Amino acid sequence: MSEQRQQPVAVPGNRSGTRLPHHTVAGVGAGPANLSLAALGEREVPGGVRLYERRSSAAWHPGQLSEGTRLQTSWLKDLVTLVDPTNRLSFLNYLVAGGRMYSFINAQYEEIPRLEFARYLAWAAGELGTVRYGSPVERIGHIGTGAAGRFVLHGPDGPVATADHVVLGLGTRPRVPACFEGLDAGGLVLAERLHARLRGAAVLPYQPAVVVGGGQTGAESVLELIRHGFRDIRWIGRRNWFAPMDDSPSANDFFRPTYLRFFHGLPAEVRQRYVAEQQLTSDGISLSTIQQIYQLNYEMYLREGRYPVMLLPGRDVVRACERDGQLVLWCERDWGGRERHAAPLVVLATGREAADLPLAPELLALTELDEAGQPVLEADYSVRWKYAEHNRLYVQNRSRTGHGIADPNLSLLAVRAATILNSALEREVYVIRDEHVSTAWL
Ligand SMILES: Cc1cc2nc3c(=O)[nH]c(=O)nc-3n(C[C@H](O)[C@H](O)[C@H](O)COP(=O)(O)OP(=O)(O)OC[C@H]3O[C@@H](n4cnc5c(N)ncnc54)[C@H](O)[C@@H]3O)c2cc1C
Repeated sequence: MSEQRQQPVAVPGNRSGTRLPHHTVAGVGAGPANLSLAALGEREVPGGVRLYERRSSAAWHPGQLSEGTRLQTSWLKDLVTLVDPTNRLSFLNYLVAGGRMYSFINAQYEEIPRLEFARYLAWAAGELGTVRYGSPVERIGHIGTGAAGRFVLHGPDGPVATADHVVLGLGTRPRVPACFEGLDAGGLVLAERLHARLRGAAVLPYQPAVVVGGGQTGAESVLELIRHGFRDIRWIGRRNWFAPMDDSPSANDFFRPTYLRFFHGLPAEVRQRYVAEQQLTSDGISLSTIQQIYQLNYEMYLREGRYPVMLLPGRDVVRACERDGQLVLWCERDWGGRERHAAPLVVLATGREAADLPLAPELLALTELDEAGQPVLEADYSVRWKYAEHNRLYVQNRSRTGHGIADPNLSLLAVRAATILNSALEREVYVIRDEHVSTAWL
């Protein structure tokens, strides 16, 4: 348990009268980002790292674990291994503990099933025993000053805990393009709900379906539809081709601590340009997924005389409405002109955006914001705010233009968590090693 005894302190709104638990480090959200923090902090943070999670039980993108979905990151980049391969919560230890090591090796995966990674995360959370499920944090406030200051985490029924330092690992939510906002159509479904929607549903094979979004999630939605018997799938993407992810050695140089340090020191306009140029090292489609779509398309053409998937690149959906039980979409084409598509089922795979930060207005008022109104983050992921000397607020997975293209990904989870722990505990708990670099960034 990560709860620590402390001197009772009057916390406004604590009507229950019971003493609130106090933590040296508390996390909000128990996704991979904060699980990595809790795993690396288990023996280092007094009492461990307590995580407050709104879900009722462990889950990682549960609607998107269909057959064939693969992790786009090496399993070596688990919660701990990059900085502490001896940590008991490594992926290898998970395999050994579950008795699956030999079966896993013999399956010879180049990319492991996402389901396996989700199971690993749930196992790690269970081993830690410091995740409080069903505990949404709706607001984070701050009381006291100097060494007596502390953060207060508020749930729906009032304050639930206090902490010296808080780490937000809130993740992302699906982005819905403006033309779909407020469209209350039964046939419109977010990609993360597609699997549940199709379960048990009868499909007329040549009933059309449209997938909007040319990234990995769009590609996986196409495969999901094929598996459920759809044979008239129109796949719309904004880029002028369905771009694969660049997983080359030189692209992977962006996903290392040395590059991260170099990147953080660059002027803001250079960072923005680099992130835009490097996008396909993170946001492209796995080569194996796009090959699968092309091969299925080819084989079904051999068998049935028509392609089940029509690829429609270079199109931007600008208007949508429901008409006679169909969703009608208007697309602007890259090369000019418009076209129209209609289908009873439209899947939105249109990216993700950062969740709102639940900061109390009085805390926000003491925080330095950038031109986009977002808190400015230091190199150690802490928010620049008035009382940061004693109470630090860290934010994970929200600083692509500040900390580089790797920021929202799993690749440097352990490195980021180690950086945060070193900062919160004010000592070098973990040495982040990456000495032998053949690329001269500077
Ligand atoms: C389908 C999918 C597959 C992906 N695959 C890969 C991949 O293969 N490789 C890769 O590098 N990246 C991948 N990513 C991107 C990224 O690595 C993941 O999104 C990853 O889960 C991010 O981790 P996180 O902990 O920051 O956020 P999340 O995993 O989203 O976790 C955030 C957690 O915080 C909880 N939460 C949010 N708000 C509150 C609150 N106010 N109070 C309490 N709890 C709260 C949420 O319930 C959630 O459990 C993938 C993303 C998606 C959507």
